[in-house]
Amino acid sequence: MTTATWNETLEALGVLPTSRGASAGTWLDTRGPELVSYTPSNGEALGRVLQAEAGDYEAVVRRASEAFATWRMVPAPQRGEVVRQLGEELRAHKESLGRLVSLEAGKILSEGLGEVQEMIDICDFAVGLSRQLYGLAMHSERPQHRMYEQWHPLGPIGIVSAFNFPVAVWAWNAAIAAVCGDTMIWKPSSKTPLTAVAVQNIANRVMDRNGCPGVFNLVIGRGADVGELMLADKRLPLISATGSCRMGRRIAVVVGERLGRTLLELGGNNAIIVMNDASPDLAVRAVLFGAVGTAGQRCTTTRRLILQKGIAKDIVSRLLKAYEQVRIGDPLDASTLMGPLIDAGATDDMMAALDRVKKEGGEILCGGKKLDCPGHFVLPTLVRVKKGMETPKDETFAPILYIYEVDTLDEAIAIQNDVPQGLSSAIFSDSMRSTEEFLSHRGSDCGIANVNIGTSGAEIGGAFGGEKETGGGRESGSDSWKAYMRRQTNTINWGKDLPLAQGVKFDL
Ligand code: NAD
Repeated sequence: MTTATWNETLEALGVLPTSRGASAGTWLDTRGPELVSYTPSNGEALGRVLQAEAGDYEAVVRRASEAFATWRMVPAPQRGEVVRQLGEELRAHKESLGRLVSLEAGKILSEGLGEVQEMIDICDFAVGLSRQLYGLAMHSERPQHRMYEQWHPLGPIGIVSAFNFPVAVWAWNAAIAAVCGDTMIWKPSSKTPLTAVAVQNIANRVMDRNGCPGVFNLVIGRGADVGELMLADKRLPLISATGSCRMGRRIAVVVGERLGRTLLELGGNNAIIVMNDASPDLAVRAVLFGAVGTAGQRCTTTRRLILQKGIAKDIVSRLLKAYEQVRIGDPLDASTLMGPLIDAGATDDMMAALDRVKKEGGEILCGGKKLDCPGHFVLPTLVRVKKGMETPKDETFAPILYIYEVDTLDEAIAIQNDVPQGLSSAIFSDSMRSTEEFLSHRGSDCGIANVNIGTSGAEIGGAFGGEKETGGGRESGSDSWKAYMRRQTNTINWGKDLPLAQGVKFDL
């Protein structure tokens, strides 16, 4: 794509050559250090942002707190109507925003568009949810008493997002939090600031039209600067953060210290188990998308493949053939299947992991190299694991797939669970006994466990998140909305006596 066409995309989304890095309904006059956004496809600068500083952050939080006082009193279905309009505005900008995601994050256009579709889907979900923020009613043990619970908005909340889903993760949080009556402050990844500016422009337009600015707010700045201000800020009862386990540990400590709430969506190390009775066609297609899609830069990327011995040879030879055919290149070219890694640091991390693999006796079956061209392109890589290797237990955010061979399902499940992370997992098998065992209490220990479907590409309707070092948070569908509200239990006495619970007597 030429620079002229990039500029068209940026212009269509109101992204200036030099954008402001903070918005609280309107853009603030930020004057922090300039942040340059480079496209990972060829390293050229796409645009610049003047980052937010402490004073800008303060202005944004003040505005979000004021807006909360009003927004929480707007009936939830009316809040849903505003989120419906946000979804409409996203529909209108799907093409240009999807392109910008491709340009800035390097994922192929189909995935860039898919990410915007996910934003639209979660808006639709949130609209319905705005009429379903149900609490339970309980039977009181006392006569003429009524007990129930209700859910109240929580406050202005903080959203920290990672580079690899630069817009969808904001929407998972923002659409749900908005119908729940929260206002929010978003700190996107410094690697993808322009998509954040574009989304904020869209949100500002919708909120202006509805006369409720200050619900969706943005601060762009370093994690160590504005990020840390958010973590320590007692005005933000919840920090919902997506990123590496390292970042999650820091957030858990700082927010935990002030007894705030966290919703953590951290690293994954996801495995697919393929049993002898599986369909090799299905399994290979799922592994290919899971391991190579988004250049291995999804939290749900398939990083480990655990093959039962009877099917192993066939699957490996099919994968070797498929890996040869993966078209690597410009993510905006419709024929490309794999774009670049996000930056030079990511390619270095991949090469360092492969050095450790070699030292530990792993066998690189294919790939294992950077491409000699502008941009951060690598070859997707297959590694045969040697017993006792430790490297596959780390999440390297790159397209490396570690292959294990096992005799039994028990062995496969033990390997699958023997990593610190617990996000996504899958089994391919036509045996009900095997699949049910995998889904049982002694099966997969992950937040997501699939049968005859790969580890990545979740739908918004389910609760998304993982166990162990993945952080335990749940976002998106099901009852994840509860994380964005506070529960209140109410007991009402409509009688003329004051009986105490548990039959306690306390009369003069
Ligand atoms: P990262 O941890 O480097 O950064 C994530 C975000 O945290 C960025 O916005 C960063 O600025 C911010 N941050 C870093 N230190 C901070 C601090 N001290 N205070 C506040 N904010 C701080 O992650 P990344 O490289 O952008 O993304 C890749 C990682 O994210 C992978 O580990 C991936 O598995 C994970 N991820 C998880 C999910 C999930 O849902 N589980 C989804 C997407 C990505």
